[in-house]
Amino acid sequence: MKNDDYNNNDYREVTDDVPETVEAAEDSAAKDDAAEDDAAKSAEDKTGDGPEDDSDREDVCFVCRRPESKAGKMFHLMQGICICADCMNKTMTTVSTNFDYQGLLNNPNISIMNMADLQGEGGIPNKQKLKRRRKGEKPQPIIDIKDIPAPHKIKASLDEYVVGQEHAKKVMSVAVYNHYKRVATDTMDDIEIEKSNMLMIGPTGCGKTYLVKTLARLLNVPLAIADATSLTEAGYIGDDIESVISKLLAAADNDVDKAEQGIVFIDEIDKIAKKAETHSRDVSGESVQQGMLKLLEGADIEVPVGSNSKNAMVPLVTVNTRNILFICGGAFPDLEDIIRKRLNKQTGIGYSAIIKDSSEKSDDILMQVKTEDLRKFGMIPEFIGRLPVVFTLKGLDKDMLVQILKEPKNAILKQYQKLLEIDEVKLEFTDDALEAIAEKALELDTGARALRSIIEEFMLDIMYEIPKDDNIGRVTITGDYINGTGGPLIEVRTKM
Ligand code: ADP
Repeated sequence: MKNDDYNNNDYREVTDDVPETVEAAEDSAAKDDAAEDDAAKSAEDKTGDGPEDDSDREDVCFVCRRPESKAGKMFHLMQGICICADCMNKTMTTVSTNFDYQGLLNNPNISIMNMADLQGEGGIPNKQKLKRRRKGEKPQPIIDIKDIPAPHKIKASLDEYVVGQEHAKKVMSVAVYNHYKRVATDTMDDIEIEKSNMLMIGPTGCGKTYLVKTLARLLNVPLAIADATSLTEAGYIGDDIESVISKLLAAADNDVDKAEQGIVFIDEIDKIAKKAETHSRDVSGESVQQGMLKLLEGADIEVPVGSNSKNAMVPLVTVNTRNILFICGGAFPDLEDIIRKRLNKQTGIGYSAIIKDSSEKSDDILMQVKTEDLRKFGMIPEFIGRLPVVFTLKGLDKDMLVQILKEPKNAILKQYQKLLEIDEVKLEFTDDALEAIAEKALELDTGARALRSIIEEFMLDIMYEIPKDDNIGRVTITGDYINGTGGPLIEVRTKM
């Protein structure tokens, strides 16, 4: 009897279920019909035409039954059947994941049209082609252990391009040297050498990106530069965290081995600090830090080739991040106050807290940064823990800006001099002109970045006027010209 009851209940449950869905379906169908009738009626009312005129009707998706106004533009198939983009997409994804393409490809009786052939010569764009790894071949380190330049040599090469920042250059040279030694010896099994991921702290335009770019070029390793502000947790609007690896793969010319030993620079890292008071999910702050943990430490990441979004049409490849060097950089505004507060507390034990020499230069304060300060700033401990090499860069002063103008191997002034040399014109700058440019740049407070825009502004006239007159042999830019109180000195070529 009990059993019967159970069965009855069971039966009831099932039968209850069916009519519910049917009813619901009928109900919604009825509603849809009513809506369509209404739409038709209003169309009739407006146009005065009969119901035959269907110019005011909209297409309805054959699969989900949503009208065009809700589902967006439709694909028109045969016999008036329409499908919305969402349903089409779902269908394509299902087909591409569940369908036995391989079996189809191996069948000699079936030939499949290659869509890329329709785009003319070249077929699939090269950016989606991966470098093939031969079977059994072990990935080779891109820098041979004997060829890794010693730290003092790396620093000497950096000196040729980057002005000042002695401490940063030294720390980076050692960290990079150790990193590539670790990669080349691959001693992960016995004594594990820790990864030397770095965190650079320094104001904008002081050379953070420039240092990393120069380093990657000197070592001849692929480099990807990403902006932390554009990164969001997977699934939200913005770039997926893993897209940085995709960029690196592109920089390595789709050579996975090369990419696996490259450098990733993530700028504006301070912008993903934990937000102090949020009630909503922090998809671009703390979550991004969380998401980056596995990348920083070393993980197998599936990345799309030749694109930075995963979809059915893009091939995927696995990149291991264990030997990728991550360098993060940021200006960390207000970090100075946090450090100052900590220092005050330390000196203030037993005394009323004395403001310890508030005139102390901000660069010197920043040099004393500790993990706890960064944590207070909003970086999560696990994240900071994976960036063991932390160092600060100095803000640029007037003298450094003047040096940047004229000294590096590819200094801006040298570039202009070379341009005018082609016209056989000598370009010179007086010392007070250089100082005037540096002063103007300091006012803008964007570091060395301002230099180029200032120079470009006043060089425009020079570059426009000089080629007009073949007699000009030498142009001297003066401080007065920069300050708008005079003109450049122009000397005529001495005729032979
Ligand atoms: P940020 O620190 O904001 O990343 P960048 O490294 O992008 O600044 O610097 C902008 C530009 O300024 C660089 O392309 C470079 O030409 C110049 N620059 C900045 N700092 C230096 C420096 N210390 N030595 C030489 N050039 C520099």
